[in-house]
Amino acid sequence: MNETDVIIIGAGHNGLTCAAYLALAGLRVKVVERRKVAGGAAVTEEFHPGFRNSVAAYTISLLNPKVVSDLKLAEHGLRIVERRAQNFLPAPDGSYLLTGEGRTRQSLASLSERDAARLDAFNRKLEEIADVLRALVLRAPPNVVEGFGTNAIREGFNALGTARLLGRLSLEQQRALLDLFTRSAGEMLDETFESDLVKALFGFDAIVGNYASPYAAGSAYVMLHHAFGEVNGKKGVWGHAIGGMGAITQAMARAAKEAGAEIALEASVREVIVERDRAVGVVLDNGETLRARYVASSVNPKLLYTRLVPSDALPADFLARIKNWRNGSGTFRMNVALNALPSFTALPGPGDHLTAGIIIAPSLGYMDRAWQDARESGWSREPVVEVLIPSTLDDTLCPEGQHVASLFCQHVAPELPEGKSWDDHREEVADLMIATVDRYAPGFAASVIGRQSLSPLDLEREFGLLGGDIFHGALTLNQLFSARPMLGHADYRGPLKGLYHCGSGAHPGGGVTGAPGHNAARVILRDHRAMFG
Ligand SMILES: Cc1cc2nc3c(=O)[nH]c(=O)nc-3n(C[C@H](O)[C@H](O)[C@H](O)COP(=O)(O)OP(=O)(O)OC[C@H]3O[C@@H](n4cnc5c(N)ncnc54)[C@H](O)[C@@H]3O)c2cc1C
Repeated sequence: MNETDVIIIGAGHNGLTCAAYLALAGLRVKVVERRKVAGGAAVTEEFHPGFRNSVAAYTISLLNPKVVSDLKLAEHGLRIVERRAQNFLPAPDGSYLLTGEGRTRQSLASLSERDAARLDAFNRKLEEIADVLRALVLRAPPNVVEGFGTNAIREGFNALGTARLLGRLSLEQQRALLDLFTRSAGEMLDETFESDLVKALFGFDAIVGNYASPYAAGSAYVMLHHAFGEVNGKKGVWGHAIGGMGAITQAMARAAKEAGAEIALEASVREVIVERDRAVGVVLDNGETLRARYVASSVNPKLLYTRLVPSDALPADFLARIKNWRNGSGTFRMNVALNALPSFTALPGPGDHLTAGIIIAPSLGYMDRAWQDARESGWSREPVVEVLIPSTLDDTLCPEGQHVASLFCQHVAPELPEGKSWDDHREEVADLMIATVDRYAPGFAASVIGRQSLSPLDLEREFGLLGGDIFHGALTLNQLFSARPMLGHADYRGPLKGLYHCGSGAHPGGGVTGAPGHNAARVILRDHRAMFG
C-alpha cells in the first residue's frame, strides 16, 4: 500500500516548490527534511543572540516570477525590496564604481568615458541572451534518448520547441550566445572594457560559486547565469526579501501546506527503497519506512546516488558517471553581527552604497590570483569577498542601531591540500576575510561583535551541500542543460522508474529559482496522468 503519492526528499526551496505544485494538482505529497527547519540553503536563522540573517543564500533575483505568482508567495507573506544601489566596488587607490538605476553610467564615466559609452551595448547583448535563458528555464531541456518510441517522438518535439526559441535569434545574437556558453568572461570583458572595476563588476558574477579563474573557458556562462533574474519586474536587478531568504521558503512551505502537502522536519532519509527497478519509498534514519508511488529528490545528485540509492539497484555506467559529478564551488560564508555600519575609505560614511552588494575584488587579475593561490595553498592571501548588509533595508533582523552582514567569500579550496582539515583552519580564514574588508573599511573588524563562519566542509555538514557546492554541481558545459545531471536524464526522470530529480542538480541548476522544482512537478504530473488519467 502507498501511504502517499509522492515523497520529496529535502525541503529546500525546490523541494517545497515541487511539493506545492503537486499538492495543488491534487496529489498527496509528503516532504521529508533532514534539518529542523525547512528551506535548505534559503533560510533565516539566529546566528548570534538577537541577530538573524539569511545564513547561506542571501540575495534574491533568480526566483522565477511564474513560481512567485502560481504559489501566491506574496499572499503567503513574501515581500521583496530593491537595493537602493546595486553594487559598490571600492579600489585600493580610493576610486570606486557604484552601480544601480540611474547611477552606473555616470559612475563609470568618471573612470573611463570609453567604457561608459560601451556599457549599454554590452548590457544589451547580455540581456538579449539572458532573455533566451529566461525562456528556457521553465522548459525541460531536450533529452537524449536511445531508440525510436514515444519517448523519442516526445523529445523530438521538445527539441523542435527549443530550436524554435533559438531560431528567433539573429545570426549575431547566436554568435553572442555561443560566446557566452563557451568562452571565458575575462576574455570577453578585456575585449570590451578598459577599466578594472567595470570588468570586476561583471567578472565577479563569473566566479560566484565557480571555483575557477575568470579566464577559464565557460566562466562567461556563470556570468550569464547570474543575469537572468529580476526583482519586482525589473530585469537583472538583485533585491532583498524582508525577513531574509527564509521568508521565501516559509511562504513556499505555507503554500505547499495550504494545498495539502505534509512537511516532516528532522526526518533524514537513510535509503531509497527500490523494488523491481522502481523507487517505492524511503527509509528514514530513525528506521521508519514511508512508501509512495513516486520519489522526488531535491538533494545533490551525487549524494542521492552514492549515499541514498543502493548501488546494486543502479546501472553500472550511470553509477560510474555520477561518481564523477563535479562539486565544489569554492565558497566560504560568514554572517557577522555589527555594532556599527562600515565606513569605506573610497566613499566614507553612510549612504545608498551600503545597501549594495559590496565587491572586494577590484580587478580580474585579483580574482585570477585568488584562484591560483587557493589551488596552491587552500585559500588566497587576498581573497574575494562580497559584503551585503541586509539590515540597511530590513529592520526585522537585529536590534535597532546594530547591523548584520553577509560575507560571501569566493575561491577557497573545497578540500584543503596536504590532508589539512577545514576544522583546523576555519577561524584563521574567517579572520583573514574580516581583515580583508577592514583594509577597505578601517574599523570594520572592531565593529564585529559576533560571527558565524561556514567553510565548504561546514556547508556540506549543515546543508548537505557536497563539497560545499552552492549549486549542487558545477555549472560547467558538461553539467548543464541536456547534461544536467547526465545525458539521458535531463527530463527530471532518474534511471529508476518512479524516481525524479527536483533540485538544483537538474536544469537550470543552482540559485534560488524554483525552476527545477516547477519543471519536475510538471513531469511527475504528466507521468501520473499517463498512468491514471
Ligand atoms: C553560501 C551560499 C550562498 C548562496 N547565495 C545565493 C544567493 O544569494 N542567491 C541565490 O539565488 N542563490 C544562492 N545560493 C544558491 C542557492 O541557495 C541554492 O542553489 C539553492 O538554495 C538550492 O536549493 P535546492 O532546493 O535545490 O536545494 P537545497 O536548498 O540544498 O535543499 C536540499 C534539502 O535537502 C535536505 N537533505 C539533504 N540530505 C537529506 C536527507 N538525506 N534526507 C532528507 N533531507 C535531506 C537538506 O537539508 C536541504 O534542506 C547560495 C548557496 C549557498 C550555499
